[in-house]
Amino acid sequence: MKINYKLLALPILVLISLVYISFLFSSEIDRLKKQIDNIYFGNFIPVHRLHIIKEEYKNILFDQKNFDSSRKSILLNWEFYNSQYKSKNEREVVNKINNHIKRSFTKNTNDYYKYILTQVDLLIQYEVSSASIQRKKFLQRYEEVSDYLLYNQIFIIVSIAVFILFTVITTMKSHNKLEYLVNKYKSDSITDGLTGLYNRKYFDTIMDETTAISRDNEWQSVFVMIDIDFFKQFNDTYGHDAGDIALKAVAQTLDTLFDKEYDYVFRLGGEEFGIIVFNITQETLEKRLQQLQQAIASKKVVHRASKTGYLTLSMGVVLINQSTYNLTRTQLYKIADQKLYISKENGRDQYTL
Ligand code: GH3
Ligand code: MG
Ligand code: MG
Repeated sequence: MKINYKLLALPILVLISLVYISFLFSSEIDRLKKQIDNIYFGNFIPVHRLHIIKEEYKNILFDQKNFDSSRKSILLNWEFYNSQYKSKNEREVVNKINNHIKRSFTKNTNDYYKYILTQVDLLIQYEVSSASIQRKKFLQRYEEVSDYLLYNQIFIIVSIAVFILFTVITTMKSHNKLEYLVNKYKSDSITDGLTGLYNRKYFDTIMDETTAISRDNEWQSVFVMIDIDFFKQFNDTYGHDAGDIALKAVAQTLDTLFDKEYDYVFRLGGEEFGIIVFNITQETLEKRLQQLQQAIASKKVVHRASKTGYLTLSMGVVLINQSTYNLTRTQLYKIADQKLYISKENGRDQYTL
């Protein structure tokens, strides 16, 4: 089976796009999550610790009964707060307060405790305000991210739509071209009088389009040039009328064997025929050419001058694929002619690729 790479590319593209979208989502949401962490663990918990310290100092101020447990709690929570990462400026302030807190328990005066309370209050205010700045940043970033994701999604969807449209249009174009050719030339002007096959004029038209159509569909197509062996001698031996009958017999064999949707059989002139087959592998082609040789042999058209004793064909094949798409009709014709010549040189009754 011939793979249509354009159609194959479509689901692959969709898949890549989906992976890309999910990657965008996860990486952006991960960034948002980090920012949320920042707000909670960078600000909320320290504020909570500071509140505990504040409450414990108040306890000491109003009632010294649980002095020891309050002091323990203050030092523990302060230890946590103090060990958090701080900027250089923050560190200076926090270090000062740290000294005050340590000294407060040796001095043990209400004024000093009150003073520390104001300092802790200032710290709380500072932490709360920096949390609100973080929150504002977060909301701004969130809006940016959602816009960014939206634009990317629109871009991806539009790209896929354009690609699909492009593929459909090009496929339709080449298909319509083939159909147009088939219909336009369904007339006598394209038929050979003796054999009823397509004539040389129609061959030129089809051959002109063969490379373009094959390239558009990424098909390998083929042109086979066929020539009856020692036909001059056939005429000389059995007469011109018998020659005509033999020509018709060959034409009929070709017509029945190459009757598929995209098979074309032509009489190129004299005892020369041509076959164009669209979208065929080399393996299939060789099978069909061998069938043709067998079919001709089974007709047993007696031909004394021929080495088998019966009428035979020599063939030259040119493949129309990536390596020959850029050649003209005349160049392709010349290659087929050269291959036919090789078949003749090598003893006739054979094909050369
Ligand atoms: P080769 O094996 O090398 O092809 O030898 P050949 O004799 O077939 O080649 P050549 O080109 O010398 O001869 C072709 C002959 O075909 C010449 C002519 O007598 C014969 N021929 C061409 N057109 C017709 C036709 O319409 N009817 C008949 N009966 N014979 C034809
Ligand atoms: Mg000839
Ligand atoms: Mg011949």
